[in-house]
Amino acid sequence: MTNASAPNYLDANATEPLRPAAREAVLSGLLLSGNPSSVHAEGREARRCLEDARSRISAGFGRISGTCVFTSGGTEADAMAIHAFGQGRRILIGATEHDAVRKAAPNADVIPVNDQGILDLEILRQRLADGAPTLVCVMAANNETGVLSPLEDVAALCRDSGAHLHVDAVQSAGRLPFSLTECSVALSGHKMGGPKGAGALLLPRDEPIDALMVGGGQERGRRGGTQPLPAILGMAAAFDEAQAQNWSAIEALRERVEQVAVAAGARVAGRQVARLPNTSCLVLDGVAAQVQLMTLDLEGFCVSAGSACSSGKVAASHVLTAMGETTGASQAIRVSLPWNVRAEQVDAFCDAYERMARRLSKR
Ligand code: PLP
Repeated sequence: MTNASAPNYLDANATEPLRPAAREAVLSGLLLSGNPSSVHAEGREARRCLEDARSRISAGFGRISGTCVFTSGGTEADAMAIHAFGQGRRILIGATEHDAVRKAAPNADVIPVNDQGILDLEILRQRLADGAPTLVCVMAANNETGVLSPLEDVAALCRDSGAHLHVDAVQSAGRLPFSLTECSVALSGHKMGGPKGAGALLLPRDEPIDALMVGGGQERGRRGGTQPLPAILGMAAAFDEAQAQNWSAIEALRERVEQVAVAAGARVAGRQVARLPNTSCLVLDGVAAQVQLMTLDLEGFCVSAGSACSSGKVAASHVLTAMGETTGASQAIRVSLPWNVRAEQVDAFCDAYERMARRLSKR
């Protein structure tokens, strides 16, 4: 049943609903009154909890604790990596990277993707062939389409040419395993079901970096500012719970959405390649994304357009444009199923989508 007063939330890639374990961990963090940098007993207890969170998150990525620098979220982690590893290096980024990367590296060379959203490895190989010092930024999974990058191949090319690889794993962390250890990795707590306000940059090794924020020398001089302990504890708990999630059950619900949407006339961006289990980018030719969003919102469904400006307006998606879409780049919505989605919500969404497609795409 859809109910406008209790909307059906299908916008997990914008932010996952708070997981129960994360809520508990946040509350426990709020009760820790000490500052993790203080040497007295209260400070030491806060520090113990902070370091426990750090080692759990690092271990999930096959790394030691000293590689994990806490940040305010994914945007800061990407900016920190580009600041630390971009200096004195040429920067190459994938065409479908998030604005957190694109805006932090405005002069980067852009590596194109194919019509499924997959990075052109041959062009990357050619660009790296001169062996010049380079930072390569490639996302693990795209936030709009869910398309997964060929990370093992990218890492091999970077290894051969001595380039530093930075991976934005904001959308894949907790949803998919991650085995590369020789790259930096950006994480965001609220995309895993933690609270907003915490993220992390994982480094390839325990090393000093040129900090974006200096201040009191926290995070061993790599990121100044008192750590937001409740948000960090919430992120660690969310990460543990996300890794234990049955994602194939969510993928089965996602398949149902796509079957119904395609039968109703939609196209699924990146459908031929591996994607996140929860994400569908549905292009409905001839119907503006804004109109689709408003129609579904009135029916009680929270989904999003490929690319929403901070003004709330819907712009053409740079991701879909890079994949060769023309008008379709402003006629797509993203459905991203949250960890707590229920089958009846998906069924209700399918009915609403079918009705919308029948009514609007024939006009
Ligand atoms: N990178 C990707 C792929 C994202 O999807 C997002 C947020 O949507 C970010 C980075 C930024 O993360 P945050 O909201 O934690 O700053």
